[in-house]
Amino acid sequence: MSAILVPGAACTADLSDPRHDRLAARRSGHVASVHSWELVTSVDGPGTRMTLFLAGCPLRCQYCHNPDTWRQRDGELTALDDIVARLRRYLPVFRATGGGLTISGGEPLQQAAFVARLARAAAELGVHVAIDTSGNLGRAASDALLDDVSLVLLDVKSGLPDTYREVTGRDLQPTIDFGDRLAARGTPVWIRFVLVPGLTDAAENVDAVADIVARWQNVHRVEVLPFHQMGTSKWERLGIPYPLAGRPTPDAELLARVRGQFAARGLTVY
Ligand code: SF4
Repeated sequence: MSAILVPGAACTADLSDPRHDRLAARRSGHVASVHSWELVTSVDGPGTRMTLFLAGCPLRCQYCHNPDTWRQRDGELTALDDIVARLRRYLPVFRATGGGLTISGGEPLQQAAFVARLARAAAELGVHVAIDTSGNLGRAASDALLDDVSLVLLDVKSGLPDTYREVTGRDLQPTIDFGDRLAARGTPVWIRFVLVPGLTDAAENVDAVADIVARWQNVHRVEVLPFHQMGTSKWERLGIPYPLAGRPTPDAELLARVRGQFAARGLTVY
């Protein structure tokens, strides 16, 4: 959810079945609405990743770089088998770099049945699987799905409930509940926190995020991501008023303060 995505890069499949068959295929997880995919290195998990961006998200983050992923119906219907075939082609790359598959969005758990099937297929191929999620739909992730996930990139967008709602339009609690569940399971987690001056940067909000995260023993790192304006053009193109127009990026002093707030709790910070 951190990269700027180029639409039209989705996998394709011949899905000319009648409409009800497509709906059944979506529900059963044999087909998904896909925004795009890309091959990336050094982000979205270890090694070189095939990152798959699924369409659809229940949140409306003020700083979203990819508002074109919000609506599931805007994605391209794509067969599981097509994506697994693509994964197979990249197996040598994954093996050489220690990489794997990252399932992102949008919000991947909005299509949890598909994610479960894809994670299973990837795990059978010996591919490292990460999911990149806000945790808001964590309840949709079955234990079987999580059994096949080696890493969760968990976005904790704010620590104070009111600020979280202001940033995302949704409640914080489901993210905490999902983080608690991952901690109980011992699933490795990387936390992501987007630092926006005047929105998420209040010391008490950052302290609240850090306090939540610090009690999860399975957190391997915290990534503090400085807000930037690179997503602006997409909001303009979609005709959606951009609430952060003109908002500055965090300066070095603010970044150091926030990273220090996480580090003070013994967390590894990037
Ligand atoms: S969780 Fe937020 S940042 Fe990520 S796709 Fe949804 S609205 Fe955008």
